[in-house]
Amino acid sequence: MSIIDVKNLYFKYDNNSPFVLKNISFSIEKGDFVSFIGHNGSGKSTLAKLLNALLLPVSGKVLVDGMDTANKENTFKIRKKVGVIFQNPDNQIVASIVEDDIAFGPENLGIEREEIKERIDFALSAVGMQEYKDKSPMKLSGGQKQRVAIAGVLAVKPDVIILDESTAMLDPKGREEVLKVIKKLNEENDITVIQITHYMEEVVNSNKVYLLSKGEIIKSGTPKEVFSDEQKIKMAGLDYPIATKIALALKNKGLNITN
Ligand code: ADP
Repeated sequence: MSIIDVKNLYFKYDNNSPFVLKNISFSIEKGDFVSFIGHNGSGKSTLAKLLNALLLPVSGKVLVDGMDTANKENTFKIRKKVGVIFQNPDNQIVASIVEDDIAFGPENLGIEREEIKERIDFALSAVGMQEYKDKSPMKLSGGQKQRVAIAGVLAVKPDVIILDESTAMLDPKGREEVLKVIKKLNEENDITVIQITHYMEEVVNSNKVYLLSKGEIIKSGTPKEVFSDEQKIKMAGLDYPIATKIALALKNKGLNITN
């Protein structure tokens, strides 16, 4: 069974407005690293919110590990399985000490003190922030704050992490730190990663890419397959020079997309 199954999904924000997602279907397998790309307003963030039951489909289905997001009884379990990292790390940090911040999620789940301690250590070491355990998150750099936010999500032991433009407010060093952590979590901890990004260079880590345009998936495949489709990339309103950058990044990884 797929960890995420989306079937014929349609969504609009209110009755009188047009659909912002139309006839979306895809499946994500456990351990996948998936990217959603597309122009501003193409529906990427809306889709992310539908994947952890922050929004519900108007029609069609979203299943998380077989659980229908439309069934309110599943909401709590779904939120435990699918953690989201948003754009601004400042909005995700709730406590004045790093370890208290990470404890917040497990405490809300009613997990015992000893187990919470173990989870804090595991989460901080996974993001390489052990030595900041008793520091104030406010004194950290953007990349470090985002790593603390990721540790907070990890402490809940999710199967899936969604990154909704999570590196957009970071400087290049911060972006690199966060991406390295995410790649490691995917490879070593088998965490499924769903990334929404407008940094095309970030897409190369994915095993599957979905290209969204005006609320529809117009192309999907490996990064190589998606970025070699010049017509669809342009149709989605993305710059082909950006795609060329990807081609170069892929080439540097040993994948030549021009032949
Ligand atoms: P993206 O993440 O690709 O930039 P979004 O999912 O944020 O796209 O937006 C898709 C469409 O939905 C846009 O037309 C946007 O204006 C609209 N939209 C997003 N959020 C809301 C909201 N809370 N209420 C009404 N319309 C919204």
